[in-house]
Amino acid sequence: MTKWVYSFGGGEAEGSREMRNLLGGKGANLAEMASLGLPVPPGFTITTEACNFYYANGQEMPEGLTEQVEAALARLEEIQGKSFGGGELPLLVSVRSGARSSMPGMMDTVLNLGLNDDTVEELAKSADRRFAYDSYRRFIQMYSDVVLGVDHHEFEAILEEERDTRGVAGDTDLSADDWVEIVKRFKALVDEVHGAPFPQAPRDQLWGAIGAVFSSWMNARAITYRRLHDIPESWGTAVNVQAMVFGNMGEDSATGVAFTRDPATGEKALYGEFLINAQGEDVVAGIRTPQYLTEKARTEAGSDSPSLETLMPEQFAEFLAHSNRLEEHYRDMQDMEFTIERGRLWMLQTRNGKRTTRAALKIATSMAEEGLISEEEAVMRIEPTSLDQLLHPTLDPKAERTVIARGLPASPGAASGEIVFSPDRADFLTKEGHTVILVRLETSPEDIQGMVSARGILTSRGGMTSHAAVVARGMGKPCVCGAGALKIDHKTNTMLVMGKAYHEGDLITIDGATGEVMEGRVAMLQPEVSGDFAKLMVWADRTRRMRVRANAETPEDARAARDFGAEGIGLCRTEHTFFQDDRIVAMREMIVAEDAESRRSALAKLLPLQRQDFLELFQTMRGLPVTIRLLDPPLHEFLPKGEHEIAEVAEAMGADPARLRDRILELTESNPMLGSRGCRLLLLHPEIPEMQTRAIIEAAQHAARLTGEPVVPEIMVPLVGMLGEFERVKAVIDATAKEVNASGEPKIEYKVGTMIELPRAAIRAREIASAAEFFSFGTNDLTQTTFGISRDDAASFLTHYQELGIIEKDPFVTIDVDGVGALITLSVREGRMGRPDLKLGICGEHGGDPASIRFCEDAGLDYVSCSPYRVPVARLAAAQAVIGKKTASSETA
Ligand code: PEP
Ligand code: MG
Repeated sequence: MTKWVYSFGGGEAEGSREMRNLLGGKGANLAEMASLGLPVPPGFTITTEACNFYYANGQEMPEGLTEQVEAALARLEEIQGKSFGGGELPLLVSVRSGARSSMPGMMDTVLNLGLNDDTVEELAKSADRRFAYDSYRRFIQMYSDVVLGVDHHEFEAILEEERDTRGVAGDTDLSADDWVEIVKRFKALVDEVHGAPFPQAPRDQLWGAIGAVFSSWMNARAITYRRLHDIPESWGTAVNVQAMVFGNMGEDSATGVAFTRDPATGEKALYGEFLINAQGEDVVAGIRTPQYLTEKARTEAGSDSPSLETLMPEQFAEFLAHSNRLEEHYRDMQDMEFTIERGRLWMLQTRNGKRTTRAALKIATSMAEEGLISEEEAVMRIEPTSLDQLLHPTLDPKAERTVIARGLPASPGAASGEIVFSPDRADFLTKEGHTVILVRLETSPEDIQGMVSARGILTSRGGMTSHAAVVARGMGKPCVCGAGALKIDHKTNTMLVMGKAYHEGDLITIDGATGEVMEGRVAMLQPEVSGDFAKLMVWADRTRRMRVRANAETPEDARAARDFGAEGIGLCRTEHTFFQDDRIVAMREMIVAEDAESRRSALAKLLPLQRQDFLELFQTMRGLPVTIRLLDPPLHEFLPKGEHEIAEVAEAMGADPARLRDRILELTESNPMLGSRGCRLLLLHPEIPEMQTRAIIEAAQHAARLTGEPVVPEIMVPLVGMLGEFERVKAVIDATAKEVNASGEPKIEYKVGTMIELPRAAIRAREIASAAEFFSFGTNDLTQTTFGISRDDAASFLTHYQELGIIEKDPFVTIDVDGVGALITLSVREGRMGRPDLKLGICGEHGGDPASIRFCEDAGLDYVSCSPYRVPVARLAAAQAVIGKKTASSETA
């Protein structure tokens, strides 16, 4: 018989932290804490396998589950000395989801389950009547919303009415009798909307809640969240049923959340918030402003509300001891939830805490220095793409600014954008090309798509652990929350502050590192690699085998690349330097030229410009290799369009516009991506490689004279499919270089290599390598031509393919290992047979994608090349690829 249910509590547990696939993260950690002897309310976990069974079998519960739940309940009753479903001391439970990786707020939860018209009276005897009926109404509200489909707003409307009739502002002013009355109205509402009375039998309630949690695995927001975080549907969720403990039983009760280190900065100090006389949901919802746990945090924040440390010193000390124990045990920063029920501390949850990238770097490097983890583990702890967060601009401290409000610094980074008040508008306007800041009273899980689209998030309510703060940190988005001075009105879509109204479209700037909200756009500074970031990069650099280069054309890009640690330029796309205004006309002249002579005259205008570009590149990259690719323009990108551009080029050429129009028609191709691009164009018009080679060699001579260091350019031929193509272009390069070397100083050595971006080239790699000194895999074109899909048009159906499950990832983002990857592996092997010292790199977009970098390590490439801002990402990913390979081989050994 399959085991579907695992119990924990009373100092022991059937599960453990190793079982997170089966028990979900929450269930596995509850079991682990129980085994460690920590005070965990007892309970049991229904496995993710049961959830998968439920979906595979028309939403039926598996056989044997009922009996196992009954047995676990009996054990629970025994530990607690209470009974579920009647009797003097009623056992109340919480029912919560818990997937393998945490999906905060995406699935459903029911609290206080087991209450009914009888047990509420029993509870009133052991606790107090007001508390009992408040708990009952919370339960009815939550259960009816989650299980019976009665919208929680309908309950809120009743509450609002009741408060109004009684003339009270908050729930705390409602008496026991008021709650009794409200419970009656709530039950009547359920009866009316649901068409049946609120279920009274605790067992019916329990199975309803279990089914609802399973079902919530497939709700829209969980599906969106999974898509965003690459979580497979097949994981399923576990269900945790646990004895209730109450943080809202009076002034000696409390509930809170805490991190063992600061999740924003990574500083080693207990960091967290709590509320007296409250349930956990109250902290997360951000409706009441929470108090700080430690005295240190309280004083730093200048808060007047006492800390837990002073209010409940004993419980605080106990909690601190547990949190230290948990961090040491898990060897990572923990995010914990706790409740104090009438002076007694309970640990409700622990998990590895989400953190900003800055905090992740601090935590990883300091844990390595503390000896808790190794340097390699520290390197593995950072998700490479998360470094993007630090590679974004921050506010220029010298820039003028008008601060209009201040909130909590919830997620660092600065952002400027237009105000929008709804997630849908954020999404819509972003797709229209606007940059927006989502401004809300508070956010909820339904807002997730809008939060993804917005550049930054600003709320007027909520603390550091509110939904907005947690989710924004996870996304690496700037967020300021709890900016109470903002009066946000979602009905009129206005934000009122200091007597001034702001509307949709008005520009603001937020600084998630300081909590400042500013009017208009504020100047920003470019990021740099320093501190813990630099330290981790040193560890990564020590570990990695592959070199990291950058794709760069301009001196600014090259400088940024160097600053980020690039070890050369892997791809300079020369056609990109011709987009600028003063050059594009000459470039167009060259393209539309009807004979070699007029082409030469256009090229003569381009030569000095190219030479100057290359000179600056060589100077900036001094001492490092620079690969310059000869012209590879898909013609349609450069042909003059519209009357204005045609007239402009005609004038520059002294040509008749009508004739020029005809020429453009002649040159227009049906498939420019597969047309006279790359080496085909170079062979049609050898004066192009001639001019470019001259510019490269002359620039190298000039740079060598200026710097006194040799410059060895790498000249790369694009879109080669056949040896003959390469040999002929190489002959032009060699002849030109010889000529330039003969007439200038110093003599420049250079290498000539090719892009491998066509399947034929990959297959014929051995013979091509006999002539080419290096290969650089152009995986953008190689993906396009291997699949036979257009890189410009594929988006329309690739998303659909992903939804259908035909492909897992967009092959233009992450390398298709089975197809494109197989061609690369083949051509690495064949290429090295043709030339044992062949240098191998990759310069397609995949060169900056961590999963593809892992593949490149396995394929044995010498370097990856990516955009300058991705260089640190690639350095880290290249190191992780080495460690990952080592770990995998030691596991199989
Ligand atoms: C490639 O095809 O991968 C490549 C780097 O060249 P481009 O993107 O310029 O075609
Ligand atoms: Mg290409």
